[in-house]
Amino acid sequence: MEQSVKPASSLPLNPHIAALPPYNAGMNIAMARALSGRHDIARLASNENPDGCSPTVMAALASSSFEPWRYADPACTALRSALGEKLAVDPGQIVAGNGSEEMIAAISRAVLVPGASVVTTVPSFGLHEIEPLAAGADVVKIPMTPEMGFDLAALETAIAARPRIVFISSPWNPVGPGLDHPSLQRLIGAVRPGTLLVLDEAYFEFADPGAPDGIEVLRSSGIDYVVLRTFSKAYGLAGLRVGYAVCSGLELPRVVAAAKTPFNVNAAAQIAAIAALADESWMRASASRVRAERKRAAAALAGFGFRVAQSQTNFLFFDCKGDSSSLATDLLKQGIIVKAWRETSYERYLRVTIGSPADNDRLIAALHGLMDR
Ligand SMILES: *Cc1c(COP(=O)(O)O)cnc(C)c1O
Repeated sequence: MEQSVKPASSLPLNPHIAALPPYNAGMNIAMARALSGRHDIARLASNENPDGCSPTVMAALASSSFEPWRYADPACTALRSALGEKLAVDPGQIVAGNGSEEMIAAISRAVLVPGASVVTTVPSFGLHEIEPLAAGADVVKIPMTPEMGFDLAALETAIAARPRIVFISSPWNPVGPGLDHPSLQRLIGAVRPGTLLVLDEAYFEFADPGAPDGIEVLRSSGIDYVVLRTFSKAYGLAGLRVGYAVCSGLELPRVVAAAKTPFNVNAAAQIAAIAALADESWMRASASRVRAERKRAAAALAGFGFRVAQSQTNFLFFDCKGDSSSLATDLLKQGIIVKAWRETSYERYLRVTIGSPADNDRLIAALHGLMDR
């Protein structure tokens, strides 16, 4: 039965929150089934891991160490200590989050005040803009170059103007390239006291060998920084929600931790993340399969005449030579979910996740049918 909704009241709402743009999340499988009339959906819009996750994770979740009736450790002590050892950082510098997205929110809450300025890129990972806006900040977005890369000169100028926070994802979601060593050094060199550099490395594990490790590079930089990493992508734990922030010093992580909810990382997520860290060889093998498929899919897309951005990630971003929403709709009719970019001036771009070899073949075959007409 239809519920009747009473007319809006005069309750004053937080204007920063009320005006937020929605987060553009990938379509779910049930809706794609309903829209396509197909059961076998290829979900290539959310950068999930086509290999699933390590069997050690499933074993840990089935073991007696998982006690759902107990509150989980609010400080994630065991996970942070395992991470501290792996990364050679003081666990006091690490804050674990309900996904690294929660850390983007906590950093924004911890550092920003209304009217503060924030620099990021466009196209951008939605939350790098949404969370600063929620905190009342003004967001300056630096566009990608015509060659689909970072505009280092423009970023340098914007960073030198002393924003409170700079959010940069490298490798870059949604475009794909990563900052190389000289480029990262150049941006670090532009940071002035009073600015926090947040380097979001959600796709770190998919980068080619030799790519900079933000934690290594920033530890000796002398600037205030946060490096974000996640278990959602290469480790295949997107549904459990666990990521973390590695912060400069010990005061910044203390305040970021104060800005999160107390029991933010649930018991299953803590156990799963620790188990995933104990089986890094699974993750590395999966990431190298993704790299091989990325190369194959990029060549196939280029074969259609699409301009494809260089990628260090588990997705490809390309100019589809027309309205990407209509191409996404055509693909959805065949049971393939992709992400049409919606930010102004980027409506010709499509982002496709590297899936299983069979899903990638299906995408390529569907594009043959649509583009060769
Ligand atoms: C996927 C992604 C994240 C992480 O998401 P969580 O699942 O919240 O850890 C963070 N930043 C970028 C740029 C991403 O693409």
